[in-house]
Amino acid sequence: MSKWSNQRVESTNIEGIKTMDEEFYVGKAKIRLVQGDITEVDTDAIVNAANSTLMGGGGVDGAIHRRGGPKILEECKCIRATEWPDGLPTGKAVMTSGGNLKANCVIHTVGPFWRGGTRGESDLLAETYTNSLKLAVSKRLRTIAFPSISTGAYGYPIEKASRIAIATVKKSLEKEDRLDRIVFALFTKHDLEIYREAAKEIYD
Ligand code: ADP
Repeated sequence: MSKWSNQRVESTNIEGIKTMDEEFYVGKAKIRLVQGDITEVDTDAIVNAANSTLMGGGGVDGAIHRRGGPKILEECKCIRATEWPDGLPTGKAVMTSGGNLKANCVIHTVGPFWRGGTRGESDLLAETYTNSLKLAVSKRLRTIAFPSISTGAYGYPIEKASRIAIATVKKSLEKEDRLDRIVFALFTKHDLEIYREAAKEIYD
């Protein structure tokens, strides 16, 4: 049986700003909601909201490649040439090293483009989280940070996406006890608030 408990802690967040972060537990695994730039996070892996080309892009994808340096793109090219010549399908996840990032690895996953919610978007979004976590566990990683997948350029409404993200991670952690810490690195205060509300709604 996993236990969900929640506590508010005052801390210095990853941008150095004093804030009230929220921590939740599923069994012994901690879920942390923080505001900041995911490229600053020092988890074993950070997740990239990539596009299927794996050749970089805007938003969090651009930030990861800029900060991580050319090694990540080289490895992405190699994945395209071998494993996924037609591009990484939506919902799937692959891993590269972290280049110059604090994180050792980057897990690249492709979120669904929002088309009104009737094209299987919710299942595909859930898959990005479960496949990223499965990949992390298969590589014996223990800590992983997610951005808010699909809620930028791909237009997924963040109120809906946040509930899927948190519920899916919780479900995975209930089945899997080899992960220690999951961080949601939310870029704006507004995004952080929405994730907090989602977490409360799901678990209180
Ligand atoms: P998608 O194409 O999957 O929508 P985006 O990168 O456009 O991906 O946006 C996903 C989320 O990532 C958005 O909420 C955006 O504000 C956020 N974001 C952008 N840059 C960063 C960053 N450096 N760290 C964390 N989150 C980021």
